[in-house]
Amino acid sequence: MRTVAVTKIGSLRDPDDDTRGRIGVVDFPEQELGAEDVRIRVAYSAICGSDPHLAEGFFGTDVPIGLGHELSGVVEALGERAHRNGLQVGDRVAGNFLRFCGTCRPCQEGRQQFCEHIQDYNRPGMAETVTWHESQVYKLPDDVSLLKGCLLEPTSVAVRIADKTNIKVGDRVLVCGGGPIGQLVLQVLKIHGATSLTMVEPIAERREMALRHGAQHVIDPLNEDQNARAAEITGGRGYDVVVDASGSVHAVAGLLDLAAKGATIVYGAMYPEHFALPLNLSGYLYLKELTLTGVFVSPYAFPRALQILPHLDVDELTRAIFPLEDAVEAFAAHVSGQHPKVVIRCNDLEEEAA
Ligand SMILES: [Zn+2]
Ligand SMILES: [Zn+2]
Repeated sequence: MRTVAVTKIGSLRDPDDDTRGRIGVVDFPEQELGAEDVRIRVAYSAICGSDPHLAEGFFGTDVPIGLGHELSGVVEALGERAHRNGLQVGDRVAGNFLRFCGTCRPCQEGRQQFCEHIQDYNRPGMAETVTWHESQVYKLPDDVSLLKGCLLEPTSVAVRIADKTNIKVGDRVLVCGGGPIGQLVLQVLKIHGATSLTMVEPIAERREMALRHGAQHVIDPLNEDQNARAAEITGGRGYDVVVDASGSVHAVAGLLDLAAKGATIVYGAMYPEHFALPLNLSGYLYLKELTLTGVFVSPYAFPRALQILPHLDVDELTRAIFPLEDAVEAFAAHVSGQHPKVVIRCNDLEEEAA
């Protein structure tokens, strides 16, 4: 079964051909269909900003490392006991690449993100098929196409980020980073009643995309004084909710100064393993009472992501589509940043409806 994988550890951005990380299409054995499992013929699998981190060996260095956790497809086979949620062969689905076991202590305590068996079913979905536990699989609404459906997982991340902001209607909101997660967060928080909604993003096309989808203000951090702009937009108070979706070590430190007293800052990206953020405890935690938090994975968010996805305008995120055999070119396009997001078509599954 053809699967897109990291075949050599290294940065995909390394200019030196000898040390650069590599992506390839590898033949993996098809996973066994357990009694509670669902086999999905994958339609679309999107490249995530975290995939290059995997190529750098963030989660392990034994290659090949299969990729793909943002996918949609059609149910091809069901295990004999995979009938708890009414899935049928032929259903159009998407899902969570992680299975929460439900049995370990963190799962029982309502903190599934810390499930001790979280990796047991983490199988690569940038492949012809993927076999997941039934609890990971969600039927797509009729008005969500397979192409849009591959954004269910990143939408679940935006939902979880929204949860962690503790946003209230009318809060002033700033989102840093106009990549796919930042754009999804922007739209989700807009629906949540965000005001003074501002996107900080150095790339002009991404700022324009944000303005087309609900941002009231955009700030170019390279050519504008972001503190002065934020003060002007918020009447000198700062933002009640600040979300980082950039993962950029250059961007994150300055966000503390854009936050209002009592604000919540969600660091909603992956960061370099050894990067440390200096934090003035007196200024930011004592005097300003900021709440700083992050997001690892998105438990309890998928059912709501499924509800909100039809209300999001995300066509611009799924325009760059490459066939599975061109995965190397697809990753080159992703790394170049020329598209807001890159999607891989794993099988040509005709869209009947939607
Ligand atoms: Zn992702
Ligand atoms: Zn568990």
